[in-house]
Amino acid sequence: MDATTILIIEDEKNINDILVFTFEQDGYKTVSAYDGPMGIDLFRQHNPDLILLDCNLPGMDGMDVCKEIRKESNVPIVMLTAREDEVDKVLGLELGADDYITKPYSARELKARVKAILRRSEISKEAAEKHEDKSIITSGNVTINVDRYEVRKDGKIIDITLREFELLRFLAEAPDQIFSREVLLENVWGYEYLGDVRTVDVTIRRLREKIEDDPSLPRYIITKRSIGYYFNKI
Ligand code: CA
Repeated sequence: MDATTILIIEDEKNINDILVFTFEQDGYKTVSAYDGPMGIDLFRQHNPDLILLDCNLPGMDGMDVCKEIRKESNVPIVMLTAREDEVDKVLGLELGADDYITKPYSARELKARVKAILRRSEISKEAAEKHEDKSIITSGNVTINVDRYEVRKDGKIIDITLREFELLRFLAEAPDQIFSREVLLENVWGYEYLGDVRTVDVTIRRLREKIEDDPSLPRYIITKRSIGYYFNKI
């Protein structure tokens, strides 16, 4: 993975330099901008993991820069404010900044804040990715969209009952794991279901007719003789 990149938008060169030094010392990569438009340009070019943004910039001020960036991205933004009335403004305008820090601040305090925000953003990114992974399962020419209760074969939606869908999803969410018919019955039909385990076989057969190219030679739902079934991820 690339180093975590911090975009620093601060017009006072000496402060910008100190921030660069502070964060590069800790292994971050930094990109410096000295006014708002340059900051927005560099944000688009570098796709940073976090932005330190001075409130008081010449021309386009930090509040407007924050609003512009928010239109395009949820990147964490920490506003650097010089005065208490700027803090009120930052909070009152609901700019979508993630945090603010009032000058003068200690390097240690700033680093701790940045680290905490990056950690939070990493956790939410992971959660979003996980959700994405879980909601669509693909194997060969079959795609299962868990959120939409939809199964497609070669891109075409296939007609499937809710029970068939639940069975397919249960198997496909744990590819290669072999489930006994009893376990499938419990998990897909529910503990209260008093049916015969052959119900599972019948539903598997119907599913195969719908998703397999050749139901007699299944590639997706495989029988493990005398144990049960598993989903094969191709
Ligand atoms: Ca300034």
